Amino acid sequence: MSEPLGYLSTRGQSPVVTIGGAIAAGLAPDGGLYVPGALPRLDAISFDPDGSLADTAATLLAPFFKGDPLAAELPAVCREALDFETPLRPLPQRDAFVLELFHGPTAAFKDVGARFLAACLRRLPRQDARPLTILVATSGDTGAAVGAAFHRQPNIEVVILYPDGRVSPRQAHQLGSFGGNVRTLRVQGRFDDCQRMVKAALNDAPLQAARPLSSANSISLGRLLPQMSYYAHAALQWWRGHGTPLNFIVPTGNLGNALAALWVRQIGLPVGEVRLACNANATLPEFFQGSDYRPRDAIATLANAMDVGAPSNFERLRWTFGNDDAELRRTLRAASVDDTTIRRTIAHHATAYGEVFCPHTATAVHVLDVLRDAGDAAPWAVVATAHPAKFEGVVEPLIGRAMPVPSTLAAMLDRPAAAEPLAAQNEALKGWLRDTPLESHNGAASAHGHLDVQTPAGRA
Ligand SMILES: *Cc1c(COP(=O)(O)O)cnc(C)c1O
Repeated sequence: MSEPLGYLSTRGQSPVVTIGGAIAAGLAPDGGLYVPGALPRLDAISFDPDGSLADTAATLLAPFFKGDPLAAELPAVCREALDFETPLRPLPQRDAFVLELFHGPTAAFKDVGARFLAACLRRLPRQDARPLTILVATSGDTGAAVGAAFHRQPNIEVVILYPDGRVSPRQAHQLGSFGGNVRTLRVQGRFDDCQRMVKAALNDAPLQAARPLSSANSISLGRLLPQMSYYAHAALQWWRGHGTPLNFIVPTGNLGNALAALWVRQIGLPVGEVRLACNANATLPEFFQGSDYRPRDAIATLANAMDVGAPSNFERLRWTFGNDDAELRRTLRAASVDDTTIRRTIAHHATAYGEVFCPHTATAVHVLDVLRDAGDAAPWAVVATAHPAKFEGVVEPLIGRAMPVPSTLAAMLDRPAAAEPLAAQNEALKGWLRDTPLESHNGAASAHGHLDVQTPAGRA
């Protein structure tokens, strides 16, 4: 039997665990993020050229699962979680590609990580027979993806926290549409507050003892690792045809998606350059231009799922480069794209080419536009992180027509929705968790009775 791959904390003060332990825990006990002892190495020729996304994922992730009981289940986990396409579609007007990651149930790339995490947690043995409460702070898309992935799953309860008024009406509706074992809290603050509240609850040992808690944020390796799959799949597809690496421009908030792309490159697969496209929250762009790393409060932008002032995966990014900031700055670049430019980019590509992007994707499209206008001719893929119909309030006035809604999103918008208000304080969430009993796990109807029901976010 070969050596299992051990996972340690970025802060170095937690015992080594295998992948199952890291996924079950979410955050490491010392407050750091789990990382593999060393990133495995893989060869492009190990992959089946005719394989599906799920096949690519199973080959790619096998070394990460080595030595853990979950390894035997990995192909089934991949088939179950990655049962939709992530097509690499040509973008002829810019001689580039769009990697479309929004064909899952909630129309954003978060479905990949959430479904994989759910498929793993379903299979992990738990010593505690009590239900597990999964806390998820969301800037808009994660909460819905996690809610959808765990909805009606026995012995699991999901508590979603989102910043009230800072998600689109359709996102808010989607977040509150589950009922049953999925509870939704609208926090009177920012996304960073939600994230901080979740971390504080997870780190509260007496609370954990009273009510077992886990997280489903992008700090979870159960979400980060599967996101590597679509980069590997797309890059291998390009490499087989052209023999060169494919470069990616990634709309970036908490850095989970971009880090997955970087890890694919680090393990030896043909991913070229990874560019970070940020919105007006410029913590990362300023760092890459040479300033100190200065986390801060987030400001609200049109690309709300990227409204992050303190990217949670930054610790992992530093670890990936041996905590050598000079090396990190040599390798990566990040651009900040403001709301005016986001609007202009959406309107221009719709008018000139009939191509509609969501506000997040538009930040990456702008970075591509700048590269091409400066004469860059490298093979680039822009990562499309959400379907534009999720952000109708921004997109439709700019393009002057209604966006057709994907059918799974439409079905969620047809259900009633509800969310409870909560103050943006650590104690408020802890108190809520202590005082709120678990829901019975048999359906949505009863959950809405005592809540303030939102008006449906219209589809018409
Ligand atoms: C979450 C999200 C992002 C940012 O991804 P990170 O992994 O947090 O960097 C970008 N676009 C959309 C649509 C998202 O939902």
